[in-house]
Amino acid sequence: MPAVVPTSPVPAPLPASDLDPPLIRVLLKRSSSSVELPQPGRAYRATSEQGAEWLWGPLTVRVRNVGTRWWQVGAWADPAAVEAAEARLQSGLGVSIAVGREVTSGGLTRVRVRWPAGEPADPAALLAGMGFVGSFAIADGGGVSLADAAGNVLTSQSEVLLEPSGEWPVAVDGGRYRGRLRVRVVGDELLLINELNMESYLRGVVPVEMGPSQFPELEALKAQAVAARTYAVAHLGDHDDEGWDICDTPACQAYRGFGAEHSLSDRAVAETAGLIATFAGEPIDAMYSSTCGGHTEDAAYLFPDRAQPYLRGVPCLWDRPIELVGSGTDGPWLSTSGMSATLAGELLSLPAAASPEVVVARVGEITGLGRGPASGPLDADRFSEALLESVGVNPPTGLVDGTRGLDKLLFLTDLYKIPLDPPVEGSADSWPGAAALAVLELRGDVVRDGGEAVPRPGGAGIFPRRSAHGEDLPIPLPLWECWDNGCRRRASLTVQPGTPLERLRTGDRVVGLMVLRSGGGGEADRRSAWREWVRERSWPELERSLGMPGLQKLQVTGRSPSGRVIGLTAVARDGRTRSWQGFDVRRALELPETLFDLHLRRDPDGVRIVRFLGRGWGHGVGLCQHGSYGLARSGMRFEQILGHYYTGITVTRWRSAAIAGKSPAEP
Ligand SMILES: [Zn+2]
Repeated sequence: MPAVVPTSPVPAPLPASDLDPPLIRVLLKRSSSSVELPQPGRAYRATSEQGAEWLWGPLTVRVRNVGTRWWQVGAWADPAAVEAAEARLQSGLGVSIAVGREVTSGGLTRVRVRWPAGEPADPAALLAGMGFVGSFAIADGGGVSLADAAGNVLTSQSEVLLEPSGEWPVAVDGGRYRGRLRVRVVGDELLLINELNMESYLRGVVPVEMGPSQFPELEALKAQAVAARTYAVAHLGDHDDEGWDICDTPACQAYRGFGAEHSLSDRAVAETAGLIATFAGEPIDAMYSSTCGGHTEDAAYLFPDRAQPYLRGVPCLWDRPIELVGSGTDGPWLSTSGMSATLAGELLSLPAAASPEVVVARVGEITGLGRGPASGPLDADRFSEALLESVGVNPPTGLVDGTRGLDKLLFLTDLYKIPLDPPVEGSADSWPGAAALAVLELRGDVVRDGGEAVPRPGGAGIFPRRSAHGEDLPIPLPLWECWDNGCRRRASLTVQPGTPLERLRTGDRVVGLMVLRSGGGGEADRRSAWREWVRERSWPELERSLGMPGLQKLQVTGRSPSGRVIGLTAVARDGRTRSWQGFDVRRALELPETLFDLHLRRDPDGVRIVRFLGRGWGHGVGLCQHGSYGLARSGMRFEQILGHYYTGITVTRWRSAAIAGKSPAEP
């Protein structure tokens, strides 16, 4: 790991409300028809160029298309006159028309009519014939209308601020959002914009970009929160011409509002409130991707126009398999007690299949508590009794039924969760040794703990359960591989990060390291799903997706130092060529990543198939989400994680930092 100077910035105070500044404007919808705000009975204070009024949900927000203009037939202060005019329009013109109201700031209600299926030849004359002399078309024809449950229709040519009553989230189509809404007219489209506090916004981003149940590590989520906040700050004001800052799709960063929130990502946002990553005093271009495949990439190779000194390829240990080196050769399969007896034999310098008498004498010799050689052969009870004595352990009286030595030993090992099976037929050779290992654990001479395999800068490590930090594992190791039905000694093993391990130690010395393959643990790890992938494309499929009929060959013309394909040329039989550079290679081939090799084969029908073997998912530039999860597992804090993936950056408080050209939006 490169040296990182943690800056330990103090997070900003949390917002008291979702509408406290600094605010961000998120584009939720862009529609040329309509958007529903479905909550019945919800009151909205709607402020437009005509002033403020209350509307009642459900609301329908519509684009007012040119060609289906509203015709204003009159304006009245008396509600009865308004209703009479509406009734006359409905009965005179039929059900296919739309009747609308608009309340003016002067207290008048304008009544309007519209023919959604197309206007009659002379609407003014038709309306005059019904008594509405002087009716006129609303000249603009465009804009938006907001129709509420009470029959009110508000129209606007520019923007309507919709402030929902109450603190609970506002519903828009299928989603729920904190803060307030702005409806904006741009050309012949309506834009629906969610305006809210920056931190409230991030609560709906972090869990979508990095799932807290898939990556349950607070420091990794905090790193993601800072990256997402930095991205948002860097893009504030980018779409001022349309009245918004950031979109809600992965094209900007994914935002799903209140419905996506999760307590752990909320905590990550709160504990980093206001913190962003800067380089040379400016918020960085905080690119991130899912799985880099073992080494992140220089932006210069994939996105030349986004090259930055801090977007530099770095090793990403978590994405790589871990090599464990054993101290012996591969051994035969043994039962669990066979393995324990082997370990006890090594620890106590006992011969294989040592007799109970020899085992007791040797344990007593080591602890100094033995009573000398046994008088005659020991059965399981007398052996267990003598073994417990030789380590100075006796169960509290009254806890064990009867006085049989074997019951006492099994009671105690069970109490302390030390694995020891009762002696059974066929285990006579190994059982005394296994029992000896168990009593050494009882005495605390041998310590057993569990954890999972993690990469460490110097090689392999273990992340013990209930520990805050990963620890190095020695090279070589007394290495064992265990499945449900037994264990065997291994000369070496390759494991994925997250594989469960069990470790036996005396003092600082590791006397046994068991890789647990059973129990559906790390080997089937969902986190590793994108480390390796295979995609196949038939030749005709490639011709189509590359737009190269008559494709003759496909050549990799460039690779970055991390191995990513950054240049690809397709050659057709008639000599035409097409080339792709950088990230366009991934787009052209529709692959998860550009870190791949390709092989050509033929299927049984002779069709040429290109097989792409790859690693990683995303683009590999900037922060690697799987890698940062792993670094957090190994005990790194979020500033250190950010410093690993973004070379030379500083973590700082956004609003106290002098950031050129970027200032938070004020309400
Ligand atoms: Zn990675």
